[in-house]
Amino acid sequence: MIVTIDGPAGAGKSSVARKLAQALGYTYLDTGAMYRAVALMALRHKIALSDAETLAQLARTLPIRFGPLSPDGVQRVWIGEGDSAEEVTEAIRTPEVSQATSIISTHSPVRRALVERQRQMALAAENGVVLEGRDTGTVVVPQAELKIFLTASPQERARRRAAELRAQGLEVSEETILKEQEERDARDSRRTDSPLRPAPDAILLNTDGLDLDAVVRQILSLHQERCNQRRCGVSEA
Ligand code: C5P
Repeated sequence: MIVTIDGPAGAGKSSVARKLAQALGYTYLDTGAMYRAVALMALRHKIALSDAETLAQLARTLPIRFGPLSPDGVQRVWIGEGDSAEEVTEAIRTPEVSQATSIISTHSPVRRALVERQRQMALAAENGVVLEGRDTGTVVVPQAELKIFLTASPQERARRRAAELRAQGLEVSEETILKEQEERDARDSRRTDSPLRPAPDAILLNTDGLDLDAVVRQILSLHQERCNQRRCGVSEA
């Protein structure tokens, strides 16, 4: 089964999508990490963030490799081929890369290139797949059987993001995060290509005040309902 988890930054998508993929034994596809990898390389190679064609070429060709999800929900990310591949798991999560990512992801040619790669990766997954992003239910795999759109209040989202970054040893103020988050939200929802919005058939879940396990349990039971309807053969939910 294909499951999509979309929503704004800090709504809890990553933790939920990872835990869900683990519980179901599904492949996890972090589409945001692919936009981040392109942004990181653009910054390093000093490609103008407005240069849509050069960025799209990078998006088409950049080798991005994901490791398996570790039992504690970490997925390592590499850029490059073979022995010369560089691990960028942390480098793609800095505030500077986050801002650049939100800019490069407004370019349609960049989106087309990554959406195509994501679609192929999702369809190649053997068991089932959980995609996490902004447009996975609307654009990448609109045929997904279960679409979730996670939301939370801006304050709650900024608080969670600050805690995540602090856990990685980065010094951040919640106020700055809130401000950057507002800018990213505005860009994500106003862009003309694939603006952030729920698919018409998505289920909206507000995660304010809910802990991770409670959200995952709700989605697992929705997954089980879909399985019962379609006999997907997965029994672990
Ligand atoms: O999910 P994450 O915060 O890692 O995504 C980083 C950025 O990548 C988002 O702010 C958004 O601009 C972009 N993105 C996107 N479409 C996706 C996933 C991420 O535009 N499917």
